[in-house]
Amino acid sequence: MTVNKFIRKLLNLTGLSVTGFSFMFRKRELHLWVKPHKNGCRCPHCKRRGRILRTMDEPRIWRDITICGWSVFLLYRPREILCPTHLRIQEDIPWADSYARITYRLEYVLLVYCQIMTQKAAAKILHIPKSTLSDMLHRTITRIRDGHRIRKLRSVGIDEISYAKGHKYATVVYDLDLGRVVWVGAGKGRETIDLFFTQQLSDYQRNQIKWACCDMSQAYIGAIEHHCPNAKLVLDRFHIVKALNETIDEVRKEQWREASDNERKALKGLRWLLFKHSTNRSKDDTDILNALKKGNRRIHRAWVLKDEFERFWEYKAPWAAERFLNNWTTTALKSRLEPLRKFVKTIRKNKHRLLPFIESRLTNATAEGLNRIIRMTKNRASGFRSLKAFTDMIFLTVGDVDIPAQIPARFRTI
Ligand SMILES: [Zn+2]
Repeated sequence: MTVNKFIRKLLNLTGLSVTGFSFMFRKRELHLWVKPHKNGCRCPHCKRRGRILRTMDEPRIWRDITICGWSVFLLYRPREILCPTHLRIQEDIPWADSYARITYRLEYVLLVYCQIMTQKAAAKILHIPKSTLSDMLHRTITRIRDGHRIRKLRSVGIDEISYAKGHKYATVVYDLDLGRVVWVGAGKGRETIDLFFTQQLSDYQRNQIKWACCDMSQAYIGAIEHHCPNAKLVLDRFHIVKALNETIDEVRKEQWREASDNERKALKGLRWLLFKHSTNRSKDDTDILNALKKGNRRIHRAWVLKDEFERFWEYKAPWAAERFLNNWTTTALKSRLEPLRKFVKTIRKNKHRLLPFIESRLTNATAEGLNRIIRMTKNRASGFRSLKAFTDMIFLTVGDVDIPAQIPARFRTI
């Protein structure tokens, strides 16, 4: 076995021959002079062989994977060829995309590492500065998603995510059937979501949307009703529950403010207890809440109403659910709790957007998964300042394109 062949086997280099190598000891770099094996002088578009016109004076350099602490670089002087169809063109480089400065192999490793660890950790393993790695990742993901079209979108979910401290928001659009993110845009207003509907979807695609799910934000509701004439809007269960919890908390805070020092003792530690879903409560929890009946009737009343509302999601028949909603809102109004009145108002105004849930169940199945996706991408994005980096991570982990799978199969080695 020749030395070159040994290097080629060791580094698992396919489709190229090694013509020389040099070690840069100070920088811990291994430079490999390579050339396309057998398949040189091919047109990158039609893969046909072309006549060589000239060889580049300067070699191009591609960063490859890191092995045993050595950063591997490939060097080659590409040739300009004459393709019968595409005329003057630089020959196809089998180990990298036309304009990429890193090899397919490194792209694949980057993508897979960043799916399972933070960019910081991946940068450390690969001996690449983190900012360089972020740039490489961004270029790779952008190239792979370039020209991607959203397909078969029937159930659309829209939500906002804060991605950095200081109230920076992005709007995220999901395909609820796939449980995948199809789009991310800066901001959370009507202009942002309008961009999605007008730039990403055709008239036909907008008409094809049957279900849409979002929170109670008027911007999203308005946009869906404007752009998707055939869609039934369902308010997201998660957001309704959250709004109700906040309402109950409002009652608790009011009572806390009015309570004497002695009374406050009984109200301590109630906050999270009140938020708990009835099925997650222990017997002790329920005992504490029942004791409130004597301790603080107003909080107790609010809690009972919140507990009762859970039943809404279990109805199977829309007429029964509607009757429940009517009864519940009437009882809630009678409670004379000011924060609840506001909630009831919202519910009554949006009744026609709540009831489709009973029929569709669509959000029921996806809401939890959706929220898990949001949390996951958020955690992954911790430490990012820019929306660009955050979007990259969303597309890489929960996007509608399997990005690593787009790298040619023979380069998918780690
Ligand atoms: Zn060609």
